Amino acid sequence: MSLKHPQKPPANTRDLAVDPMLTMDGNGIPRHHMPAGETPPEVAYQIVHDELMLDGNARMNLATFVTTWMDPQAQRLMSESFDKNMIDKDEYPQTAELESRCVEILSRLWHAPDAARATGCSTTGSSEAAMLGGLALKRRWQLARRTEGRTADRPNLVMGINVQVCWEKFANYWDVEMRLVPMDGERFHLSAEEAVKLCDENTIGVVAILGSTFDGSYEPVAEICAALDDLQARTGLDIPVHVDGASGAFVAPFIDQDLVWDFTLPRVASINASGHKYGLVYPGVGWIVWRDDDALPADLIFWVNYLGDNMPTFALNFSRPGAQVVAQYYNFLRLGFGGYAKVQGYAREVATRLSAQIEELGPFRLLTRGDELPVFAFTLKDEVTAYTVFDVSNALRERGWQVPAYTFPKDREDLAALRVVVRRGFSHDLADLLLQDLKRQLPKLEAGTRTTGATGDESAFHH
Ligand SMILES: *Cc1c(COP(=O)(O)O)cnc(C)c1O
Repeated sequence: MSLKHPQKPPANTRDLAVDPMLTMDGNGIPRHHMPAGETPPEVAYQIVHDELMLDGNARMNLATFVTTWMDPQAQRLMSESFDKNMIDKDEYPQTAELESRCVEILSRLWHAPDAARATGCSTTGSSEAAMLGGLALKRRWQLARRTEGRTADRPNLVMGINVQVCWEKFANYWDVEMRLVPMDGERFHLSAEEAVKLCDENTIGVVAILGSTFDGSYEPVAEICAALDDLQARTGLDIPVHVDGASGAFVAPFIDQDLVWDFTLPRVASINASGHKYGLVYPGVGWIVWRDDDALPADLIFWVNYLGDNMPTFALNFSRPGAQVVAQYYNFLRLGFGGYAKVQGYAREVATRLSAQIEELGPFRLLTRGDELPVFAFTLKDEVTAYTVFDVSNALRERGWQVPAYTFPKDREDLAALRVVVRRGFSHDLADLLLQDLKRQLPKLEAGTRTTGATGDESAFHH
């Protein structure tokens, strides 16, 4: 099966062109099929290296949530453990030990009632973690239904339409009906009232997002839980909540300590987070933690040999890199609670200051201010007709900034916005440079030709 983009231009069929200084015979290295013979390592390196220069500067990519800067010491540790396979718990018992310490650290951070019973694992990212969390919800519901002697063939999962694409994948791959709450006016995420309206006896759970990717806002997890408590009191339906904390589960514990969103709420059964987003590790590592071993049905677990002992695993992959898990533990050790609070607090300061400055420029209206996730979305005021948010995004590209523009989903398709994700490594100084560039472009935008709008690319926006 080929997963080629339908709009991809025709492939360049010419052989790779090698700098004549690099090799005596630079001819005949094909581009699209495997060369017949060897290529000297320095030549192979230079070819790949040169081509990747066009990928752009990761630090100027304000579209991604994923970590683009780590301590040099973390890089060293990662290169020392690139050869370790996470699944070989027997061969690499200390890597396995660091993984289980990370799970314990996270379950305490997220207030699991009994950290000794907290259950969880690392994954390749939040997407795999979401699959595992969703599967546990589905299996729990099926088991309960069968115990009651009722059918268990039409499960559904309730969530806001702003969910990340991983939840659409979950529903598609595992035959679960998605029940989506659309956006409404200036409500860009799930509300407790709308969530409960979609719940019935076939609802395996409600997904609440701590940190919507559309605008950085937190969904009201505590209100959603309270509304489900009320539903249970009225109807007997006991519907668990999974918190998709891909970003927020590494932000809120450190800088929103008064926010109630985690296992403190008895209805929260599981939480996922991306170690490679605000967990501050290079891609790809994610985490999932269940509140206790009851929340993860035992028949989903496989047992692998671990130092002659049996070790439980629950994963979609088998082999997986160990380096990211090592780096996650390094970060916990290196930063501690105070360090994480400082890093996330600084990101929020940069985000809120930059959003306020963008608001002052005049043409823009903020949808969010970066005061939840350090992420904000903004659009153009109605009176701005000479250019679109897509033009603004393109104009910023001229200087290398990647600030995505995208249209909102169902019931707010009329709204197109720009979004800035502030991460570790994006300082007040870089924010000032971005602001200057934006300011400089405005008169040109005002005078220039307006594009008709979406380029077709924005529908692929799924970060
Ligand atoms: C990024 C994100 C995901 C997917 O996470 P990956 O780690 O990229 O697989 C899921 N949900 C939310 C809310 C996200 O922000």
